[in-house]
Amino acid sequence: MNSFTYTRATGVEAAVREKAADEGVKFIAGGTNLLDLMKENVERPSRLLDLNHLPLKSIEAAPDGGLRLGALATNAETAWDEQVKQRYPLLNQAILAGASPQLRNMATNGGNLFQRTRCYYFYDLATPCNKREPGSGCSAIGGYNRIHAILGTSESCIATHPSDMCIGLAALNATVQVTGPNGERTVKFEDFHRLPEDKPELDTTLAPDEIVTAIDLPNEDFSQHFSYLKLRDRQSYAFALVSVAAALQLDGNTIKEARLALGGVAHKPWRDQQVEAMLQGQPATEDTFRRAAAAMVATAQGYGHNTFKIELAKRAIVRALKQAAEGTQQASDIFTNSNP
Ligand SMILES: Cc1cc2nc3c(=O)[nH]c(=O)nc-3n(C[C@H](O)[C@H](O)[C@H](O)COP(=O)(O)OP(=O)(O)OC[C@H]3O[C@@H](n4cnc5c(N)ncnc54)[C@H](O)[C@@H]3O)c2cc1C
Ligand code: SF4
Repeated sequence: MNSFTYTRATGVEAAVREKAADEGVKFIAGGTNLLDLMKENVERPSRLLDLNHLPLKSIEAAPDGGLRLGALATNAETAWDEQVKQRYPLLNQAILAGASPQLRNMATNGGNLFQRTRCYYFYDLATPCNKREPGSGCSAIGGYNRIHAILGTSESCIATHPSDMCIGLAALNATVQVTGPNGERTVKFEDFHRLPEDKPELDTTLAPDEIVTAIDLPNEDFSQHFSYLKLRDRQSYAFALVSVAAALQLDGNTIKEARLALGGVAHKPWRDQQVEAMLQGQPATEDTFRRAAAAMVATAQGYGHNTFKIELAKRAIVRALKQAAEGTQQASDIFTNSNP
């Protein structure tokens, strides 16, 4: 690890100014991703600017009657918040499917949005990686790529986005509150993360000196019919091979509105609004769900070791939609990891 200095941010605007003035500065929140990357020398900041004393920890009503999650509220505080549990249980499940209770006690909502890919070549300085060192090549294409992406890939990078929380947020139509040198702005969740294209070093559409201050959940009701299904190599403490956030509003057995987002398959949470529109007005049957699943992966491409994900994703989508329609919560970490 390189040597670095450490200071505390005194205000949001001041933090933005400090970051803009020195590109060696990195914001730190829970530190659960950044410190790992520093220990591997993937990140080498000259100064850590600690955001933890900024007043961004509250979970409160959003202006439209939805819920505003402070960027510095921890993942545990967010998952176990009464409003989240009652009104946005899909988010509760998505968060609890990730990491471990100890990590969720440290990890913050803002930091979760920026966590970097778990591509093993990205962490291995001895191998080429366009995300770590632009222009050096991609070791995963033609290499061992079992955990890699099948949708939205490019010739430069086939890494996946690792977050569970973000898949729930994508399905729930969240927006992100951001402050930068030009003031505040709101970013739709679907526009927050980016596909690799020819710039895989960029994970998000934000400028490096912008701070996330909060995440807003809209005033919508998907609290009855939802499922977060995470398929992984072991039952807990593992990243998703494929995950599905599914939410439905039903009128009898007819789908009034559908939300579907996939994790573990692309460089960003993968949501397809054409597939969601396809579900609208249809009966909530296995046949409908199979057609939606086929459409969702119609453009998927396997790279060898990860080709199994195409069929896995299809089956997971059908299962998650069935669970959502039936109103049956999956047996998830909500039981095995129950804590605050
Ligand atoms: C062993 C292990 C297993 C894990 N398993 C899972 C899993 O299964 N599912 C899952 O979803 N996650 C998992 N995680 C990842 C974990 O959820 C993230 O590390 C965590 O959410 C990051 O939050 P943080 O506050 O610690 O971020 P930090 O490490 O502090 O920061 C991460 C990045 O975000 C930037 N940042 C932080 N806050 C802000 C802000 N407000 N505005 C702008 N930039 C900001 C930092 O500069 C840094 O670049 C795992 C982590 C570990 C170590
Ligand atoms: S998939 Fe992306 S992160 Fe992984 S080696 Fe290739 S360029 Fe690097």
